Amino acid sequence: MSPSPVDILKETFGYPAFRGQQAEIIDHVMAKRDALVLMPTGGGKSLCYQVPALALPGTAIVISPLIALMQNQVEALQQLGVAAAALNSAHSLEEQGIVRQKLLGGELKLLYIAPERLFSNGFIDLLRRCDISLFAIDEAHCVSQWGHDFRPEYLRLAVLAESFPNVPRLALTATADAPTEKDIVERLGLKFGEVFRAGFDRPNICYRLVPKANGTAQLLDFIKSEHPEDAGIVYCMSRRKTEQVAEKIAASGRIALPYHAGLDPAVRQETQARFLKEDAVIIVATIAFGMGIDKPDVRFVAHLELPKNMESYYQETGRAGRDGLPATAWLSYGIQDVAKLKSLMRNPDKTLAQQQLDRGKLESLLQYCESALCRRHLILKYFGENPPETCGNCDNCLSPPALFDGTEAAQMALSTIYRSGEKFGALHIIDILLGGETDRIRKFGHDRLSTYGLGKGYSRAEWQSILRQLLALGFINVDAEGYGSFSLDESCRPLLKGECRLELRRPPETKRQRRDAAAPARAFANKEEEALFTALKSVRLALAKAQNVPPYVIFHDRTLIEMAQTRPQTLTAFGELPGVGQSKQQKYGPAFLKAIEELAP
Ligand code: ADP
Ligand code: ZN
Repeated sequence: MSPSPVDILKETFGYPAFRGQQAEIIDHVMAKRDALVLMPTGGGKSLCYQVPALALPGTAIVISPLIALMQNQVEALQQLGVAAAALNSAHSLEEQGIVRQKLLGGELKLLYIAPERLFSNGFIDLLRRCDISLFAIDEAHCVSQWGHDFRPEYLRLAVLAESFPNVPRLALTATADAPTEKDIVERLGLKFGEVFRAGFDRPNICYRLVPKANGTAQLLDFIKSEHPEDAGIVYCMSRRKTEQVAEKIAASGRIALPYHAGLDPAVRQETQARFLKEDAVIIVATIAFGMGIDKPDVRFVAHLELPKNMESYYQETGRAGRDGLPATAWLSYGIQDVAKLKSLMRNPDKTLAQQQLDRGKLESLLQYCESALCRRHLILKYFGENPPETCGNCDNCLSPPALFDGTEAAQMALSTIYRSGEKFGALHIIDILLGGETDRIRKFGHDRLSTYGLGKGYSRAEWQSILRQLLALGFINVDAEGYGSFSLDESCRPLLKGECRLELRRPPETKRQRRDAAAPARAFANKEEEALFTALKSVRLALAKAQNVPPYVIFHDRTLIEMAQTRPQTLTAFGELPGVGQSKQQKYGPAFLKAIEELAP
């Protein structure tokens, strides 16, 4: 009798229980029925097909668009003692021949392939000669033209339904707006399957935003105080900036590498490999980095500039904390970013309707940034869910912003913008309000405006915050030329006339550290425990280096943390740790047990 899914979960993967809808989905596939699985990154999609692949007779075919990811998954499965292989262009013809032989001999439980492989000479016929347990179609949104990574080869996957009518097909993705979902179901012919939709929440990610003062210094401070030994990703808009920022982080004593499309492919590959294979590397990247990076222990994702829209923000921050341990999404933003983004959006290659859509999305992002409400609530609502009002794990929940009646301040700002001719940006408007004595003020005679010096009751930082909020609320517009000059929006009339009042949030004091409120990344009971964790990490790194695989393929941090806390003394106790299946118990138990014994207090 073949083992049950739960036995496989325990014995091979070393996990005690299924998460969320996993059990339901696996039962469904075991009953040979099709399914579409929509789950956030880190939600545990892979187990939904890996467990049935091991429980059912025959070979599971996993279609995946990214060679790097494929390689990663195969390495991880081989570590678990699972007969898994990949067929892709990275392999020599000889290696490919060996894999084919194994496939025909029924020796493989899982075979990963790129979609184009499926349609190459005679491959489908080859599969017909094998016992196929299921098809898993990973990154299934690639079939949709709505998605951002449409792949024409994915359209041809419809052929699977005709060629293998009795083999269940499981499509999986983390991108799931309504049009994409509809496309997947239609184009892959999943009409008779079921859709499993998990919530999109990432509860272990703490969302934090800071108004930009000196972005890079704030970032350095954040990294130093909260993630001094962690791997992370920093996103910037320009290539040059990635290099400058990487240099500054490196000067602070960390390993930080730039990554952008302008770098030599060999350099990019090397950078990516170091990120995966070393502990605690920081990548400073343009958005070119991230697709296909499946590193579970990225502890923070920082944005030095505003991302393009909520979708990008959620996708990029989603690369943090895939292992479920606490992680931070940190964003610093200022008004200048808005002007920059707006000018980028004036893309003559796009239709007017598209440009309008882009602008609408930017506005949603600004509202998110300036809101006093729970960040998670806003994100999930944006994606169509019905989340609770508070989450307890975002800046606004941890230290709720103070609100104040900002009606008069808003009126002052609006009339300054109006009276100075709607030609100036934040800097000059604030100079006027604070009664500054700049050349520009003298040149334009702005010291004669009735609001000159009228705003001394607020600091410069407070005025910046007020202007950003007025922008986010749509009362003012910033020009798209990139100069950042403000103009009034129609909608500000009632406010200007005093017909309504306006509540604004007080800017957080820039100097105050928020760390006290945020949960520490890792909680160790004492110094010894922490020292043991560090020692276990170096055992892991040595084992990983010897096999040229990333450390997390050996064990995730979660396993090492529990190891440091429980200090198993026997192989049996070692096997009880989460993430330790039978194969890893035998292979790695002795090395870690020895380290634990040596460090015993
Ligand atoms: P996704 O593909 O949805 O991004 P993964 O399949 O990579 O997510 O799973 C994310 C992480 O969660 C992995 O480290 C995986 O080992 C872990 N995981 C998945 N299911 C379970 C489970 N039932 N118990 C414990 N850990 C799990
Ligand atoms: Zn919250």
